[in-house]
Amino acid sequence: MRSSWSCLGALACAVALVASVDAQSSHSFVDLLRPDTDRLIKAATADDFAWRRLAELTDTFGARLSGSPNLARAIQWSAQTMKADGLENVRTEPVMVPRWVRGHEEAAIVDPPQHDLAILGLGGTVSTPPGGLEADLLVVTSFEELRSRAADARGRIVLFDVAYGGYTETVTYRTGGARAAAQQGAVAVLVRSIGPIGLRTTHTGSVNYVPEVPAIPAAAVAAEDANRLARLARGGRRVRLRLVLEGRREADVESANVVGEIVGREKPNEVVLVGGHLDSWDVGTGASDDGVGCVITWEAVRLMKKLGLRPRRTVRVVLWTNEENGLRGATAYAERYAASASDHVFALESDLGVFAPAALGFSGSMAARAMMGQIESLLEPLGLPPITAGGGGADIGPIAQAGRVPTMAYIGDASRYFVIHHTPADTIERILPEEVSKAAAAIAAVTYAVAEMPERLPR
Ligand SMILES: [Zn+2]
Repeated sequence: MRSSWSCLGALACAVALVASVDAQSSHSFVDLLRPDTDRLIKAATADDFAWRRLAELTDTFGARLSGSPNLARAIQWSAQTMKADGLENVRTEPVMVPRWVRGHEEAAIVDPPQHDLAILGLGGTVSTPPGGLEADLLVVTSFEELRSRAADARGRIVLFDVAYGGYTETVTYRTGGARAAAQQGAVAVLVRSIGPIGLRTTHTGSVNYVPEVPAIPAAAVAAEDANRLARLARGGRRVRLRLVLEGRREADVESANVVGEIVGREKPNEVVLVGGHLDSWDVGTGASDDGVGCVITWEAVRLMKKLGLRPRRTVRVVLWTNEENGLRGATAYAERYAASASDHVFALESDLGVFAPAALGFSGSMAARAMMGQIESLLEPLGLPPITAGGGGADIGPIAQAGRVPTMAYIGDASRYFVIHHTPADTIERILPEEVSKAAAAIAAVTYAVAEMPERLPR
């Protein structure tokens, strides 16, 4: 602000001076951070290191379902590799997780004969009786239609053929379809795969059972196969299906969250938390969900270490376990750090992929949003859209709630992410190296800024 020379009166001059000092002090904190965040952005986007690390994770360990040997190995590798990166206080924090094992699965239309269906058991589904089951089909397009046709559901396999209307709206049929169908006496449930389009891909994900309603077998069916079943049923034809699901629940298994840090140089007790979840579903290789979220948040901390940056506050990366089917890692983290929940000044989770066009989303008070509005200018070299309202994650949820912590998410383009979400197609082939690097750069810059700025980010 250069207006003080033109002040016409003392009062106006004083006001202008205050404004000038305010503007300078509020600008200066980001301007002081800029050389370091520019270096972080440059280092993150200089090569495809992060993409190659994701390839190493997903090629070596593949799918990483909770309680599986693959996840256990990936946890050990992550801790060893974090140590090799020079991260501090690297540790695994044990937590017991559920173990569900997918057995043999098949489904077919037996009348009109005979057509195999592309299905995938929902995570945690109970098995069909030995040898499978056979029943007539009932197709409905909503919970309301099921209730209105309750008499037709008894003894049938119910298909929820629900058009995709966004993940949050449609996923209720995957989580709640089995319960609703069982309440009307159905013997099994199929759910049209939850995704915008498909190449006959099948999308798994958790199914919820409740003690008061019988648990019935539940599977996703590819969109094309759901269409076919719906066309047959609409034509008035009796359709008979055969379904075999041999999934089973085993005893809980010890797993762990992986934790690494750079200890803060002035305020080591104040924690800036970033992370993703290392577990995945048992199909594909969990590249977008959520190997990439682990790699880019870890990369943000690795780059600070590599560039010799030790911010005022502690930066902590956590690779959570069991996000997909239990949230035990998130719960254990919040319990372990309950006493220091309010020392968490900021929490960022990446669990929505990195597909362009991506954006950062933020949830916090007006004061925190104002501060984030200034930090945003540090991201200019990346050409990201403005930070959007609303951002968090399942794994940071419990600690953020306990400590009233402002939260952020890196949000990849949902129209690409949900095409492959929880499918055999969630592999690294879908992700471009520059998308991974850009995400790591954005997270590194924001995280460093929040950890280094003089004032704590307001609640
Ligand atoms: Zn996820």
